[in-house]
Amino acid sequence: MSLAGRGAVITGGGRGIGRAVARALAERGAAVVVSARTTAEIDGVAKELTTAGFEAHAITCDVADEASVRAMAEAAVKRLGTVDILVNNAGIALSNPVKRLPLEEWNRILAVNATGTFLCSRAFLQGMIDRHWGRVINVASVAGLRGSRYIAAYTASKHAQIGFTRALAAEVADRGITVNAICPGYVDTPMTELSVSRIVEKTGVSQEEALERILALSPQHRLIRPEEIAHVAVMLCHKDGEGINGQAIAIDGGSGMH
Ligand code: NAP
Repeated sequence: MSLAGRGAVITGGGRGIGRAVARALAERGAAVVVSARTTAEIDGVAKELTTAGFEAHAITCDVADEASVRAMAEAAVKRLGTVDILVNNAGIALSNPVKRLPLEEWNRILAVNATGTFLCSRAFLQGMIDRHWGRVINVASVAGLRGSRYIAAYTASKHAQIGFTRALAAEVADRGITVNAICPGYVDTPMTELSVSRIVEKTGVSQEEALERILALSPQHRLIRPEEIAHVAVMLCHKDGEGINGQAIAIDGGSGMH
């Protein structure tokens, strides 16, 4: 399968899942833009990819800021010509019991994870409609499919992201565009490292015990690799992936089975 001639924007492309998705799409021939707030990280990923012989650019952006998204979208179209694939992957995770959840934390998580997905999708949608081809891939979470303790804001933001996915998928289904969500369980990325550190900090258990608590949530007793998320993103861009629309695809080793 070749994505030659396709332009792809991956938000949160500076590390973790976004970095793996950017590499996988670039390896299939897409020209990519990696975007996030930390310029040094996205520059590093773009350099890694260009050194490997792929077309890659870094554009700094805060997805929660409308003007920043508009500027990023303009710059991305300038660099790539067209943006055919959008991976809404930028996200943040914080935990707190609801009774101690500050409004600022709630608002920020919703702004990045849910509103960011909307702002970026809106910014690239018209181009996809004009060309009658587009793939919007929202990296949500299994937290968007069910509820768990202490992550109410994150859970609400990921449910919103999946709801938006379904609604947009219905809206553009006859325009050659598919919109899907990928819902990972715990993935081996800096975000999960941070979750482990927070468990240690809040409960006083060892690093190993904290990781074990996370692994115990997976029937496969392991973290998902970022490349496994990238694999499904590539599949959704495949011409034979066209029929998959408005779905929330769990990649979690089967934890939703029980
Ligand atoms: P990560 O390692 O922390 O990377 C997150 C990326 O998002 C970074 O590049 C970060 O860069 C960017 N980002 C954060 N806030 C942003 C903002 N306001 N504007 C633009 N970029 C922003 O996390 P990850 O594990 O790869 O997670 C990627 C996505 O997968 C997230 O949506 C997350 O919720 C989801 N997910 C992760 C897991 C997991 O276990 N790791 C599980 C399920 C779902 P800057 O900080 O420089 O902006």
